[in-house]
Amino acid sequence: MNLVFAAPVTPTVAVAETEDRFPVRRIFCVGRNYAAHAREMGQDPEREAPFFFSKPADAVVEAGRAVPYPPLTQNLHYEAELVVAIGLGGREIPSADALSHVWGYAIGNDLTRRDLQLAAREKGRPWDFGKAFDNSAVVGPIHPVARVGHLTKGTIGLTVNGETKQRADLADMIWPVPDIISILSGSVALKPGDLIMTGTPEGVGPLEIGDVCIVTIDGLGSISTKIGPKDS
Ligand code: MN
Repeated sequence: MNLVFAAPVTPTVAVAETEDRFPVRRIFCVGRNYAAHAREMGQDPEREAPFFFSKPADAVVEAGRAVPYPPLTQNLHYEAELVVAIGLGGREIPSADALSHVWGYAIGNDLTRRDLQLAAREKGRPWDFGKAFDNSAVVGPIHPVARVGHLTKGTIGLTVNGETKQRADLADMIWPVPDIISILSGSVALKPGDLIMTGTPEGVGPLEIGDVCIVTIDGLGSISTKIGPKDS
């Protein structure tokens, strides 16, 4: 086979405490998975079926790397999230078996152009330009289940320039990880390398150029992201 140009390199993220890399296939994100965040976005947090959106795999940014302030927005937001890394694919995975498909967990920051997202929402248009832009998926090192086990509770928190903005418990998720995997795999065949960002708790807000945003999850440590400057 003769490719007409070089095939893109598969994006990867670090595996904690090793030189190994985790190849990223797709990035799925859960919308409104904490009731208090659904309320702050003006939505009824009734336990309706979760919905998903996605980001391109090459939107991944490793923890510690600066994120250029993105174009077309005046309201870039942080969203602290637990990231599930899939190691074993499958379709229509029952909740009871779902955790056996998890390779590991990471800390994530679902960067969002909130103004574009809300404008799209209002018009019933797709969220892509609010959510799926370049460098929009901050993902820290992946911690293998073999080392950290499965995360079902514990604090998830976020600070901007040292000031606490988000603080909740993983146990507050409306849809816990096994249900998310089960429901998502009923819609698409999951494959090794898929990442799932599991939603953010209340307290979302803006980031400005020069801000340092730190996300912490009990058992996974913390990741730090500096914003800006803009790409020239
Ligand atoms: Mn999110």
